[in-house]
Amino acid sequence: MGILDKFNDVSRGVSEKTKNISEGNNLKRKILYEEERIVEIFTDIGKKYYKNPNEDPAALKVLCDDIDTRRRRIKKMRYELNQIRGYKECPKCGAEVNDRFQFCGRCGARLPDMDDDDFMSLEPNDYYTESSNNFFNADSNKNY
Ligand SMILES: [Zn+2]
Repeated sequence: MGILDKFNDVSRGVSEKTKNISEGNNLKRKILYEEERIVEIFTDIGKKYYKNPNEDPAALKVLCDDIDTRRRRIKKMRYELNQIRGYKECPKCGAEVNDRFQFCGRCGARLPDMDDDDFMSLEPNDYYTESSNNFFNADSNKNY
């Protein structure tokens, strides 16, 4: 019991910073999981279509909707992750901007806010992800 008390004291002493780091790692892990699932679902769609090109489109639509649900989840988690780091990511040019600002300093685009009505809407190019960029970026028309 004494040992547990001591342990709790130490836990309470853990700084906010450490908490943020573990929260951030947790989010990163969840994002990675969703990204991997999306790649799998894309593969499922391809296999389904290959096996039976006359498949009822509704069956494929269910999978597409699943991808969108996961993309929204990722969007929210990436936003939260950036919040922990203290910046917002510009949806237009990808710049990292201090999260106190409402507009991007590089391109002037309005920065997203979780309170926005359209926060959960998906940008055509926001399925670009770091961990699976070769796959996701296949149809990208970004000029680097
Ligand atoms: Zn920008």
